[in-house]
Amino acid sequence: MLVDSHCHIDFEDYRDRIPQILDGMARNQVTHALCVCVNLADFPGVLALADTHAQLYASVGVHPDQFEGASPAVAELTGRAQHPKIVAIGETGLDYYRQEGDLEWQRERFRVHIRAARECAKPLIIHTRDASEDTLRIMREECAGEIGGVMHCFTETLEVAQAAMEMGFYISFSGIVTFKNAREIKEVAKAVPLERLLIETDSPYLAPVPHRGKTNEPAWVRHVAEEIARLRGCSLETVAQATTKNFFRLFGPRDSLETS
Ligand SMILES: [Zn+2]
Ligand SMILES: [Zn+2]
Repeated sequence: MLVDSHCHIDFEDYRDRIPQILDGMARNQVTHALCVCVNLADFPGVLALADTHAQLYASVGVHPDQFEGASPAVAELTGRAQHPKIVAIGETGLDYYRQEGDLEWQRERFRVHIRAARECAKPLIIHTRDASEDTLRIMREECAGEIGGVMHCFTETLEVAQAAMEMGFYISFSGIVTFKNAREIKEVAKAVPLERLLIETDSPYLAPVPHRGKTNEPAWVRHVAEEIARLRGCSLETVAQATTKNFFRLFGPRDSLETS
């Protein structure tokens, strides 16, 4: 059994198609998927999916690509995180690729998410693009290691992965790992210990080979797992078992007193 640790099936792309999406998951032994929130305005839709489908979990957060004015306060995140199907804070992080100018607001938004995660004892889903140095620095400054989480859709170097793992973070690989030209990411996916590995689709983006260019869906996380198994020279079962166990270790219920 497999779990898609990161998707956006609340997006317009899936309107009226949720039953088919869940069917596809079932046919591919993808037992669960985490629907990741990118904006507080979308949160009710994300929560409704998780609330009505046993296979789905959800998060609360504001993506670094969302405009400056969308930044939430700590209480706006922790308040929404109380629901039992809300298992993480994010996605959050830094994106210097898609945003330009003075991005202090993005760094401040990231800090707010880390504070919220520590306060409500839920792990972080971190997005980083062209910003790994600042991402790791802020994680350290805000003691993100006390709560942990995942570096999602990982496209950085092994050194960055190691720095994140030292803070207790998991490393999640998307369909990019199946792309022919993604040599460096394939190497990182080989080197990350099984106990730290997660898999995701980031649907609707980044459909894996052999579906490249199409609207991605959680069922196709199987192709990500297959490619990682091939790279590591192990069975699909090994990757499936480890990543599923890791998912529930990270996002399963935990004692909130742990971090206080
Ligand atoms: Zn992301
Ligand atoms: Zn995402």
